[in-house]
Amino acid sequence: MMEKLLEYQSVDAELKAIEQELSANEDRKKGIAAKKFLDGVNDSLAELDAKAAEFDSAYTKYTQAYAKLCEVQQEFEGTAGDYSGEDEIVFIKKKAQELMDELKALEKQIVRLQEEILSITEQYNGLKKKTLAAQKQFKECGQKYMEFKESKAEAKNKIAEKLAELEKDIPEELMEVYKKKRADKIYPILYEYNGSGFCPYCRTEIPRLSESNMAKNGYVSCDNCGRILYK
Ligand SMILES: [Zn+2]
Repeated sequence: MMEKLLEYQSVDAELKAIEQELSANEDRKKGIAAKKFLDGVNDSLAELDAKAAEFDSAYTKYTQAYAKLCEVQQEFEGTAGDYSGEDEIVFIKKKAQELMDELKALEKQIVRLQEEILSITEQYNGLKKKTLAAQKQFKECGQKYMEFKESKAEAKNKIAEKLAELEKDIPEELMEVYKKKRADKIYPILYEYNGSGFCPYCRTEIPRLSESNMAKNGYVSCDNCGRILYK
């Protein structure tokens, strides 16, 4: 029973090698990276949109405040000649200075916002450029990977046929155990147990009960690494 499964495993190694070749394929990796970028880009764009809207409304608010303040200043200058008392003049000068300071502070804020808006626009354009590049990469690498995968299809089919043939002589239950482990990315799965009391793969101690089960069923799974141990 184990000889057949061992033979199955050695043929399965060819399949595993093709699978590894496919998963290590550079075009596949580049395609996945592009997809990941494209999946996240909408969030980045939404973030930039929100920031841009925030800056825009602040910009409107500040420019309106600036215009209003200019009006006040003009009105104020228009009436400045009406005052003649020394206290009044001191007050007027102080008031005029305050208005100038406020205007300067607002000017600074407006310049800062203009810079922020420019930076957002640049980021937006950069993201757009990257998005186009990622779309191109996704398409081209996807195509190349599909071609590569296609080129391996015949070899894969041949191995699958061989495996199906071998499977006929392997007990269903054992085959199921093997396939489940294979799906869990365990490989190689079968290891000969030398009676040392330890798993030959991961060196975990094998309980007495497992040893007696091995004698009874011909195999046992290591509790730690999941390998099938046989005598
Ligand atoms: Zn183990």
